[in-house]
Amino acid sequence: MNKNLLAVNTIGDTDNDENRIYYENSPDYLKVSLAAAMTLGFVPGMFYRNACLHCVNVLLTYDDGCRANCAYCGLQKSREGAYNEKSFIRVEWPVFKTDDIIDLTLKKKEIIHRICISMITHERAKEDTFNILTRFSSELHCPVSILMTPTILKHEDIDKFKEYGANMVTVALDAATPELFDEFRGRGVNGPHRWEKYNDILNYSVSVLGKNRVGCHLVVGLGETEKEMIYRIQAVRDKGARSHLFSFYQEKGSKLENHPQCPAGQFRRVQVARHIIDYDMGRAEDFVFGEGGKVVDFGIPFKNVAEIIERGTAFQTTGCPGKTEVSACNRPFGDSSPRNIRSFPFELNAADIARVRRELLEYE
Ligand code: SF4
Repeated sequence: MNKNLLAVNTIGDTDNDENRIYYENSPDYLKVSLAAAMTLGFVPGMFYRNACLHCVNVLLTYDDGCRANCAYCGLQKSREGAYNEKSFIRVEWPVFKTDDIIDLTLKKKEIIHRICISMITHERAKEDTFNILTRFSSELHCPVSILMTPTILKHEDIDKFKEYGANMVTVALDAATPELFDEFRGRGVNGPHRWEKYNDILNYSVSVLGKNRVGCHLVVGLGETEKEMIYRIQAVRDKGARSHLFSFYQEKGSKLENHPQCPAGQFRRVQVARHIIDYDMGRAEDFVFGEGGKVVDFGIPFKNVAEIIERGTAFQTTGCPGKTEVSACNRPFGDSSPRNIRSFPFELNAADIARVRRELLEYE
């Protein structure tokens, strides 16, 4: 038995019976990212360079797990092991009582600016998300995001998310092209997800929640070119949504555990491109792409690109905003090791800026 989980499940309980059931299901229980568990004080720990978390990320939990089979995901159905012992984004997601999560989040009002409910592909996930969303919206001080599973949703469910208090909703398209989506999330892995369904829910969500209130997760490095990813970011922006970037980072035990992370130069150029497109400073059609679809010109004056680099926010984690436009959801070291940061969970210092400037010019 994992010690963290053992500790987790004794919080708030006086019953330390060795034979008790350790894992419980949503909506009464939720998985919490390790970073959020540390921030809320459920488990001890410190963040490298004092990266401070501003968003509590929770994930629905069921003994029989997620029905999907995405090739890069730690929760994939075909990965060996019990669902509650599977890592997700390479870290544990210990299970806590929903009541305790609400209590502790309220005690951290000053630093927690958002909470996010991640659905999984499970027949109970929709109703449980409504239930938890309603509680969070009425009992917490901060806005609520839903990281949706389009496969199990209808249009009317998006209406309900809004009605029950969701401030933002997000679709994890993850792949830049329909072919990669199908290969890694759909038919290629006997998975239930379909590109058309994800895009339909993305479109409908913008019509309900409004411009800039819908996000789209995209993972850089699944096999797409820079050009393909940048055109996808533009397509998402043209729908009225914004993209939240992740650098692909192998999950041990997943089907893609041996797939390499993309070169730093590729991720940095896509980060700058996303910043330009999502803040309407330029468009993908104006970019110049060289060999292999790599960006050689961002299509805006050089001095503007230099300012973006100098400011550094383009290289910070992208996601649902908190009190400012900077993402409250900073997912510390979720897509890289602290020694080789891809998405910076804090403001960049001068050394960080020098590093990203150097990496931007790396063309492998
Ligand atoms: S960016 Fe963060 S808060 Fe927003 S939906 Fe994604 S995981 Fe949730």
